[in-house]
Amino acid sequence: MSLHGNYDSENIFAKILRGEIPCVKVYEDAATLAFMDVFPQSHGHTLVIPKGVEARNFLEMPTKQISHYMESVQKVALAVERALGPDGIVITQFNGEAAGQTVFHLHFHIIPRWTDKQLGDHANGQMADMEELQAIAAEIQAEL
Ligand code: 5GP
Repeated sequence: MSLHGNYDSENIFAKILRGEIPCVKVYEDAATLAFMDVFPQSHGHTLVIPKGVEARNFLEMPTKQISHYMESVQKVALAVERALGPDGIVITQFNGEAAGQTVFHLHFHIIPRWTDKQLGDHANGQMADMEELQAIAAEIQAEL
């Protein structure tokens, strides 16, 4: 799918938002949901998505809602930092297939990094153990 196109309400994150498929939730408010990436590139890889909008990418996000959304991204990133104590954190976001986007509902990645640990492949990794993800999510939640 390209940078431009119609929002597909059957995308996996739309299904998560509707509760049709499960996620390991980290944080939720009226306009934001954060949950663990099931194919994590690192320990604690978390995704933050906006609720109530049909934005395929950042360019399509209604401008007036960006501020709250970015506050939520920072809030979750701070909790990840406090909970997991990484050496660094990548906060990233892809727009369009050519940029690496694979799921077409806007999301920011929060990817903790450790100097001695290699980064896993993007959207091509091993599925995480669900109990392990639940435990990490609980650690992050405790710092929110
Ligand atoms: P993108 O490639 O669009 O930037 O990122 C999509 C992310 O969603 C990838 O990191 C991928 O691992 C993750 N992902 C794909 N399918 C699922 C899923 O069913 N549940 C969760 N929690 N993450 C998913």
